[in-house]
Amino acid sequence: MAARALIFADDENREIQLYACSGCGVVFSPGQYRRDGRPDAAAARAAAESCSPCRGYSICGTCGGKCEVDHVRCKSCQDAEMKAREDKRLAAAEETVLDGPCFSPCGHDFYHDVESARDAGLTVVLGAKFRHFTLDEANLVEAIIDDHHDDASEHDLIGLNALYEAVGVFNAEQTSGSYDMDEKVKQTIRHDRTFAMIKPDATARGVQERMIADIEAAGFRILKRKDRTLTREEAEWLYREHREREHFTDLVAYTVSGPVVLLKLQADSNNAAADFRALMGPTDRTKAEPHTLRARYAVGYRENSIHGSDSPAAAIDEMCRFFPFFEDGD
Ligand code: GDP
Repeated sequence: MAARALIFADDENREIQLYACSGCGVVFSPGQYRRDGRPDAAAARAAAESCSPCRGYSICGTCGGKCEVDHVRCKSCQDAEMKAREDKRLAAAEETVLDGPCFSPCGHDFYHDVESARDAGLTVVLGAKFRHFTLDEANLVEAIIDDHHDDASEHDLIGLNALYEAVGVFNAEQTSGSYDMDEKVKQTIRHDRTFAMIKPDATARGVQERMIADIEAAGFRILKRKDRTLTREEAEWLYREHREREHFTDLVAYTVSGPVVLLKLQADSNNAAADFRALMGPTDRTKAEPHTLRARYAVGYRENSIHGSDSPAAAIDEMCRFFPFFEDGD
């Protein structure tokens, strides 16, 4: 079949824009057939000369093999492209070991956990794995036997080899399938946000606004703030690493003894957690530099006025826990 070249009326250079099949008139655009990222006019012309609706199949723009009419790529090239894109995304992500499913400690479902994590500054890259639709011989035989009496066994079946052979042919022919979530979840953590909490001893003395002014003066922006008393369960979660220590009970009792101020902070550095801890000073206020929050406000070893996440990962966890995405609705 010959191809007709179509030139648009407003094309002063008379460059060929499209090719049409001289049989049925279906149009093929060079933009559909890209080579090295550029429109491929020769491929569009070849497609028009051998028009797929007239012929009953299309030519895959990637591998040149047959594909369904009106499809620009065959299924396996599309799958390969999709897989390559996913692999690239996964490779680009910095891997952080996930302790179990994404942020299950928050106790919310997976969707909200991912949203909270994103809101807290985490890029979550979920892998996808393509799996062909196939049959499992053993499951198939088991399903057949299950339908019969309790002591039926595989030995009662006649023609098993033919079934296995047919399953083999069926499986080999499957080119379609579906994408499953890969177990591999990679995440990159934004390091410019952290979590802090003004403790009950400070709110009891009414110094929280002064502390917040100091925090802002040190270059942190308050993204979110909540003034409330923690539940026992929340305090136990926050200090779970101290669970085995003898001061744990008293620490939890102190933490729930009055209102706290929960803060989600934005730093102007990429070292938010460490920078905030430097501003906080050490646990023991007597060893703190005079400019630090603990030197200025703490009144005891436990009553040291401020908590700050001890790593970017802990910050994400604590932000997810105390500022869950679905609660704030943003
Ligand atoms: P931080 O990161 O500087 O707050 O210190 P930690 O994470 O080690 O401890 C958390 C909090 O538990 C501290 O800020 C104190 O309020 C309290 N704490 C830690 N160790 C002790 C201890 O040995 N005795 C008492 N009473 N409190 C402690």
